[in-house]
Amino acid sequence: MLSNKTALVTGSTSGIGLAMARTFAREGANVVINGFGDAAAIEAERSGIESEFGVSCQYSGADMTRPDEIAGMMADAAKTFGTVDILVNNAGIQHVSPVEEFPVEKWDAILAINLSSAFHTIRAAVPGMKEKGWGRIINTASAHALVASPFKSAYVAAKHGIAGLTKTVALEVAQHGVTVNAICPGYVWTPLVERQIPDTMKARGLTEEEVKRDVLLAAQPTKEFVTVEQVAAMALYLTGDAASCITGTMMQLDGGWTAQ
Ligand code: NAD
Repeated sequence: MLSNKTALVTGSTSGIGLAMARTFAREGANVVINGFGDAAAIEAERSGIESEFGVSCQYSGADMTRPDEIAGMMADAAKTFGTVDILVNNAGIQHVSPVEEFPVEKWDAILAINLSSAFHTIRAAVPGMKEKGWGRIINTASAHALVASPFKSAYVAAKHGIAGLTKTVALEVAQHGVTVNAICPGYVWTPLVERQIPDTMKARGLTEEEVKRDVLLAAQPTKEFVTVEQVAAMALYLTGDAASCITGTMMQLDGGWTAQ
């Protein structure tokens, strides 16, 4: 389905992004993966994608807080593969703290990684997509692009911001065969969620089980975590011809959370 296409997924050494990169590769796309982690584990994942799916897979260690590194990653991808046909802005971090205690450097990092990095990748990718008359931009937003939760001021602000960026760029490129959508998962069981449990326990004075049941899944009527495979399947759908009229949307995969 995606042979002769190149997909670049930011924040794809783990969790949702890795599942997306593997799904695109399974469908025949060459992929660029990005993110942090153990170098040997990343190389094993990269070479594993190549051998398992018979595609080319490049790794970029670009830091999504650094516009110069993002520009370098996009230029390298264009040089290696011609264009980036499918761009997924997925890198993201979280920090849980009351607003008056929220560390300024965490605010800046979350806004840079979860929001501004998408501006930098999009502005680099759009000219090539327009020239080709085809492109897919998918932003991993969140249910927190639509509703808020306490103690997540930077994350909720950044995710609401990415919703606005998604809609705006969708309008700008609508007549060029390029769609721009956001995927809005509820709680997906990944390292990002696992890592926020200790801080939430502290902020709310709860046990681990209480955080899972009464905080995380409290908002999710299905009482089940979304899986990374389900999010990746939605991303794949958005790359297909059947989704060519879907643009500027917030696709909710949240077990009913935002229906409330
Ligand atoms: P994760 O922690 O498993 O993965 C995050 C990825 O981003 C990793 O590859 C990490 O190395 C990378 N990353 C972090 N900082 C980076 C930086 N400065 N530069 C480059 N890469 C960086 O998390 P995840 O749960 O898979 O989250 C992926 C996306 O999905 C995020 O945008 C997150 O906000 C969003 N999301 C997650 C959930 C959830 O419940 N897990 C729900 C809604 C939205």
